[in-house]
Amino acid sequence: MISRIDLRGSLADPRDLLPRAELDVEAALEKVRPICDDVRHRGTEALIEYAETFDGVRLTRVRVPAEELYKALAELDPKVRAALEESIRRARLVHRDQRRTDTTTEVVPGGSVSERWVPVERVGLYVPGGRAVYPSSVVMNVVPAQEAGVASMAVASPPQKEFGGLPHPTILAACALLGVDEVYAAGGAQAVAMFAYGTQECPAANMVTGPGNIYVAAAKRLLKGRIGIDSEAGPTEIAVLADDTADAAHVASDLISQAEHDPVAAAVLVTDSPALADAVEAELDKQVALTKHSERITEALSGRQSGIVLVDGLEQGLRVVDAYAAEHLEIITADAPAVAARVRNAGAIFVGAHAPVSLGDYAAGSNHVLPTGGCACHSSGLSVQSFLRGIHVIDYTREALAEVAHHVVTLAEAEDLPAHGAAVKARFDWKVPNE
Ligand code: NAD
Repeated sequence: MISRIDLRGSLADPRDLLPRAELDVEAALEKVRPICDDVRHRGTEALIEYAETFDGVRLTRVRVPAEELYKALAELDPKVRAALEESIRRARLVHRDQRRTDTTTEVVPGGSVSERWVPVERVGLYVPGGRAVYPSSVVMNVVPAQEAGVASMAVASPPQKEFGGLPHPTILAACALLGVDEVYAAGGAQAVAMFAYGTQECPAANMVTGPGNIYVAAAKRLLKGRIGIDSEAGPTEIAVLADDTADAAHVASDLISQAEHDPVAAAVLVTDSPALADAVEAELDKQVALTKHSERITEALSGRQSGIVLVDGLEQGLRVVDAYAAEHLEIITADAPAVAARVRNAGAIFVGAHAPVSLGDYAAGSNHVLPTGGCACHSSGLSVQSFLRGIHVIDYTREALAEVAHHVVTLAEAEDLPAHGAAVKARFDWKVPNE
């Protein structure tokens, strides 16, 4: 079911040999461009049409009436409510600690630079709901935005046929639980475009965050600049770096758990133990047959984005996982904390035998909106920081400016921008101090 890539003895750059998806974000860009243009020009009318095309529902409006949210919360299974409350509690603990404090640096007496952290004013939060529904993604989007102090936030999630065109009731209940009452029944690229351009019902947002499938990731890439984005949090990936101390059944169940998200999800095992590779493969055959979404999982595991990679040892294994830059990376080796400390590229690292990715998906306290497709080598997962902008505040007295004026003038002249120098000279009657 899963392919094997033998890198033992290979000196080649692992980046060229690792499993990666065929349908990449770049390829999906051309599909989402006309959708986004259409929403820009026709607004709600276009959203209603795409809901019919992609979600099979006929909507009369896209905004969800607030009473539907409170009804969903009232009808929520108490066990699910308790689990969501615990997930929120843990996420708040972690995200509250992420808040940066403002700094002021006195560069010279009378001359200071401060950095003020200011929340983004209005954000659109995307919550997926195509193949699976993700109330957990409501928590992962809303908690950091709230902890950052964002004043205006709206959630979008695909309309569901079996719920009369509303997003899934557990998503609505999670919004109500968190005090968010602006919710739209919109999915995919069209929801991202709704936040970027605004519609008759939904004012434009300054930023859109949240995970989604390849079309959501492509729309974020396309509209970036028009609207701020977090990372490209596309189809899920798991990489496991394991040695012969790992339990094959646990490794297999972790690979399956992430393959369950999407037929294009990626599951990669990197190991120096051929015996573990054989045992994991046998476990995959056994466990996939017994699991609910076996068809989707089989497609994900047998796709070219998934595989078992054999390496010579830990050093090569670390080079491989760094080159892969997985969204989720599990380290199940001897002395896992020391190995994990050496990893440079990953969205999130799960250390040891008792930190499966599913824990992070729901209730570790960490965020599950993480960069995919190799973006973890330059981007981070969603955090309080994602919703803040650092504004520099420059405050200099005449004396402090006088002290450095000649250097400013010199650099302006070196750049052939004499008007820059003139702006300083004018303040000293055209006689630059210290010149
Ligand atoms: P989704 O909400 O992302 O996408 C559903 C929408 O996709 C539909 O409403 C539709 O508008 C659009 N769509 C479907 N087919 C289309 C087509 N052919 N052309 C244009 N648009 C189309 O829900 P999903 O599909 O279940 O995907 C959720 C994704 O989120 C999964 O890939 C999962 O792995 C990923 N995920 C990622 C993270 C992360 O942090 N990286 C976290 C959770 C989930």
